[in-house]
Amino acid sequence: MTKKERYEAFVKYFSESYPQPETELQYSNPFELLVAVVLSAQCTDARINKVTPALFRDFPTPEYMASSHFDELFPYIRSVSYPNNKTKHLLALSKKLVEEFNSEIPTTIKELTSLQGVGRKTANVIVSVLYNQPAMAVDTHVFRVSKRLGLVTQTAKTPLEVERQLVKHIPEEYISRAHHWLILHGRYVCLARKPQCEKCEIIHFCKYFEKNKL
Ligand code: SF4
Repeated sequence: MTKKERYEAFVKYFSESYPQPETELQYSNPFELLVAVVLSAQCTDARINKVTPALFRDFPTPEYMASSHFDELFPYIRSVSYPNNKTKHLLALSKKLVEEFNSEIPTTIKELTSLQGVGRKTANVIVSVLYNQPAMAVDTHVFRVSKRLGLVTQTAKTPLEVERQLVKHIPEEYISRAHHWLILHGRYVCLARKPQCEKCEIIHFCKYFEKNKL
């Protein structure tokens, strides 16, 4: 199977099976999405969804969050990974949103990554989910599944290399959806330690499956 055929099979299967995939993080406005994505680094969406209802209730806007203090905010996110750093990030980024962005969420990767706690992956998620831009955020699931499938070369060593290869081959209109497809497939089927190939519906274009003659 050529790389082109593999990409075509990938887009065909997922666009038919999951035409409108969505993030599993719960949010109701752009600020909440930004906060949830920052919190979700190295943590599960399920854990984040447990803490955000109270957090969003008591800190509903950048102004509320920016005017709070570490000791007030920390208890709300105590149970997520790296709560100390994430509390500092949320205080700093909400302050910057108020002071430099009129409390709006920026629309460009450059502006977003100027906010504390917002790396390229987080910025890509924001522009893709909020503004429907063709951005590919590469997390651990996207990194692993795209390699196993053979969409990306085994020699790709960094998330940025994986992002570039995926964006080069996936048609623009599907890029933001492809991010969710790879995450969901990695989260529920193509698990890190033991891929569930026996119940996987895409063995017909998976390089890992083909190579290991499972
Ligand atoms: S066949 Fe196995 S390795 Fe390939 S995508 Fe499915 S679960 Fe992952």
